[in-house]
Amino acid sequence: MAEPYDTLLQVQELDTELDQLRHRIEALPERAALAEVRTRRAALATAMDGVRAQVEELADRQGALEKQIAASAKRRHELEERMRSGGITAARDLQAMDHEVAQLAERQRVLEDEEIVLMEEEEPLGVALADQEAESLALAAEEVRVSAAVADAEVELRAAVTVAEAARAERAAGLPADLAERYERLRSHLGGVGAARLVGDRCDGCHLTLPSVELERIHHLPEDTFATCPQCDRILVH
Ligand SMILES: [Zn+2]
Repeated sequence: MAEPYDTLLQVQELDTELDQLRHRIEALPERAALAEVRTRRAALATAMDGVRAQVEELADRQGALEKQIAASAKRRHELEERMRSGGITAARDLQAMDHEVAQLAERQRVLEDEEIVLMEEEEPLGVALADQEAESLALAAEEVRVSAAVADAEVELRAAVTVAEAARAERAAGLPADLAERYERLRSHLGGVGAARLVGDRCDGCHLTLPSVELERIHHLPEDTFATCPQCDRILVH
């Protein structure tokens, strides 16, 4: 078949090639590896936030305990000072103060034990966080390495895209506007194929056999008139 249909089929071939190249760029195995590294980094960051929140909570509780311990120690110190000063002489008062000092000392011991428990809880969290920080650094380095691998793999494919795009633009410039528009419209909703060749009795777009009546009709069409596949609606170049 004559022009512009030969050109249209060349444009279709280049479009198919471009679709395949773009798909290869999207589907690069290096890109999947990069996505995986990024997912692992994000999951690790979430886990680290969780551990940090636990450490913070323990530190807050430890701070509160230390304030209580300090208040208790201060009160005990004041009582002991007053008892030592000799100003209190009544045996009953001294006994009461002595009793309070003993209670405060006991309270301090309990609070200090609680603090030790908190510090013991904090220790493995600190170790975990250090491990996670090391892993985070390793993953960051891996992301840089895999990103570079993606870029390397892309360079060649992008160059091929540029060449095919230039060739496509040059060919497409020779197509009548209405034909180009019809082709684009079909291509956009027919999986990237808007024009197909009639190969024997088959449409090369949908691979279905055309009814003989339809074939007969197409063969009698004038050179400059294109047919439409009765099954898939694509421009049929005969
Ligand atoms: Zn078809």
